Amino acid sequence: MQSGTSEHDSQKLKPCRYCETPIEKGLRRCPVCGTLTPHSDAKTTTIWIAVILLVVYLYTLIRGG
Ligand SMILES: [Zn+2]
Repeated sequence: MQSGTSEHDSQKLKPCRYCETPIEKGLRRCPVCGTLTPHSDAKTTTIWIAVILLVVYLYTLIRGG
C-alpha cells in the first residue's frame, strides 16, 4: 500500500486568536474562551465598512449635485 495524502480534520480547525484552542472555522464566537470573531475577521470587517462608507459618500455627492 502506498502512503497517500491523508486529510486531517485539523484543516477545518483554526486556532483561536485569544486562547489558541483549535476551533471550527466560521464560528463567530470561541466556545472555549467566548471571544467574538476568534479568527480575527476584524480587518476584513473594517475594510468593508470603509468601502460602504465610501460608496455612501459618493452616492451622496452624486445625488447632491
Ligand atoms: Zn478562544
